[in-house]
Amino acid sequence: MSETISSKTYIDAHCHLADPKFGSDLDNVLTSSIQSGVGEWIQGGISPDDWLRQQEIRKLWPTRIHLAFGLHPWWIAQHSDEEVESGFQKLTRDLGQATLLGELGLDYLPRFATSKERQIRFFEKQLDLNQTHQKPLVLHVVHAHSDSLRILEEKGETWRGLVHAFSEGKEIAKRYLDLGLFISVGGACTRIGFNRLKESLHFIPDDRLVIETDAPDQTPEVGGLTRANRNEPRYLLAIAAQVAQIKKTSPEAVLDQSRRNLKSLLVAR
Ligand SMILES: [Zn+2]
Repeated sequence: MSETISSKTYIDAHCHLADPKFGSDLDNVLTSSIQSGVGEWIQGGISPDDWLRQQEIRKLWPTRIHLAFGLHPWWIAQHSDEEVESGFQKLTRDLGQATLLGELGLDYLPRFATSKERQIRFFEKQLDLNQTHQKPLVLHVVHAHSDSLRILEEKGETWRGLVHAFSEGKEIAKRYLDLGLFISVGGACTRIGFNRLKESLHFIPDDRLVIETDAPDQTPEVGGLTRANRNEPRYLLAIAAQVAQIKKTSPEAVLDQSRRNLKSLLVAR
């Protein structure tokens, strides 16, 4: 596959190509993604091991993969203070090699909620670390928007980056937009319910909305795809079709605008 990227190449705003669910067939997954028109992939980072795997994959697809290094709230929840602190030291050394900082954020689902205090501490430390790096952020926030927004609003007037897998209503969307962030929408918009999210899609300005798969998770529930299948970046087209239907526009318009928005984010400062 040629490494020349056409201007019509669409971008998956968030996926995990380093996830072990993509094993020996990753090459096929990415080749069929490119053939479908989705030819660049922005990563979500989890942990030091994940960053290493991202770098290995990037050697094979150098111009198409955008590295993101960060300490994911799930990983923070599942490791000791000492382990997370040593991960943070590694992030301090390695962040310069990535294009984006993340995933970082807060996740208060019951199984992670006991680590709230540690999650907040390392969310703040990663934001502070970024003062010297100024990387675009990849935010992961679940059931924790009031804390996440409070911290972001306290620490800065504006931020650059995206709120991934957004599924909230207009009020929360507005506060992230006011901070300068992009909103990234994925498989949730293809599911029954999620009416607040569907309303938000009418509210978020076109030049602040991007779309993602979060592959291998969050398979869209349209076009014969189901949650049982492993998600892939090429299914970004199914997300685009659904967003287009809600916004009464064309899938190409959604994909084009998302690509333009992401390109503006990826420009190094
Ligand atoms: Zn993710």
